[in-house]
Amino acid sequence: MTLDLFSDLENENNKERKDKIGKTDIKYIKSASILTEAKGFMEAYDFTLNPYSGCSFGCNYCYAAFFARSSDEREHWGDWLKVKENALQLLIKWRKKPLIDKTIYISSVTDPYQPIEKELELTRNILKELLDYHKPRLVIQTRSPLVTRDIDLLKRFEVAQVNMTVTTDSEEVRKAFEPFCPSNISRIKAIKEVTNAGIQTCITMTPLLPIQNASKFTQELLDSGVKKFIVQPFHPDKGKFVASTREIALEQMKKMNWSNEKYTQVVEIFKRELPWLGEGKQGFAPI
Ligand code: SF4
Repeated sequence: MTLDLFSDLENENNKERKDKIGKTDIKYIKSASILTEAKGFMEAYDFTLNPYSGCSFGCNYCYAAFFARSSDEREHWGDWLKVKENALQLLIKWRKKPLIDKTIYISSVTDPYQPIEKELELTRNILKELLDYHKPRLVIQTRSPLVTRDIDLLKRFEVAQVNMTVTTDSEEVRKAFEPFCPSNISRIKAIKEVTNAGIQTCITMTPLLPIQNASKFTQELLDSGVKKFIVQPFHPDKGKFVASTREIALEQMKKMNWSNEKYTQVVEIFKRELPWLGEGKQGFAPI
């Protein structure tokens, strides 16, 4: 690999350099690494891969905010996004040690299909690199219909699963917790398209937010054609220094009168009706 090629790749990544999308400030950074040895909740994987740092979607419950570098970034979670503009170059260095059969989770503390991904194609280029030079076992976790753009690549992996997060059946609830995320309907439509393309899929209801009509919601989930589901409540509050659900979301839950009992009742319906339901950490185990 020559320096010229690195610089060509960088120019390719830099072809669109917006510094703001909606309310989110965008910065372009050089990251020290692109693959992180998986630990904690993701310890069953070999690596996690985050092409971005921060997240434009800014869900108010997001525990990833706890991993932000400063209290300012934590408080303004959703208002900033860092593009790891050298992500592809860092991954290219792994060609010397191909990631054969390694399990990789994309992504653990951001969404790989940020709105700016449409122009930058950073995640897409990473997928191409993994496809051409490695044979990993991939799980892609997103809540963006943009994942359908990459169906052509995802189909070619021997082992790949797309997880689509769908947290509620109510747009009112979604807007209260995830006002900057794509609608639930668009996510279900997108994962149906991925499923129909013959790619392994899963719907992750993580966290499960208040549900209006559990039976109707279950039917909508089944109509997507997806066969695998994961459910999980909010991360429990483990205190100030451990990643957990943000206070604003816990208060919102109380206001909506959502309780552990209601969560359990809905999960019981899922257990009866859905073909495969994983719960919590075990549900996320690699394929
Ligand atoms: S999309 Fe995921 S990473 Fe982004 S704010 Fe929401 S929960 Fe956090």
